[in-house]
Amino acid sequence: MDCQRCGACCAHYRVSFYWAEGNDAPGGHVPVELTERLTPHLRCMRGTSSDSPHCAALRGEVGVSVGCTIYTQRPSTCHDVQVGDAQCLKARAHHGIT
Ligand code: SF4
Ligand code: SF4
Repeated sequence: MDCQRCGACCAHYRVSFYWAEGNDAPGGHVPVELTERLTPHLRCMRGTSSDSPHCAALRGEVGVSVGCTIYTQRPSTCHDVQVGDAQCLKARAHHGIT
């Protein structure tokens, strides 16, 4: 599966990460305007902490053509998902992408 024709994992999970990955912290890189504060220590990508998660950085249509508008600045959580792993397969199944 080509991730650029999928995007299911960006529209299924709450994408949370340590707050200091935000670009308002020294060495941080994730644009904070695209994040929400979850706890004193955690942020998440805006739009992913809801009943129908959809990351604010995702453009395009899930299952058709998508892209991450902050690809080189995405949080570590996003690096952890690998094509074909359990999280990928669960997100794809949810969106009916085989
Ligand atoms: S769900 Fe899997 S195939 Fe789809 S974008 Fe995420 S990693 Fe890529
Ligand atoms: S930051 Fe990019 S890779 Fe991560 S969930 Fe959002 S759109 Fe997907």
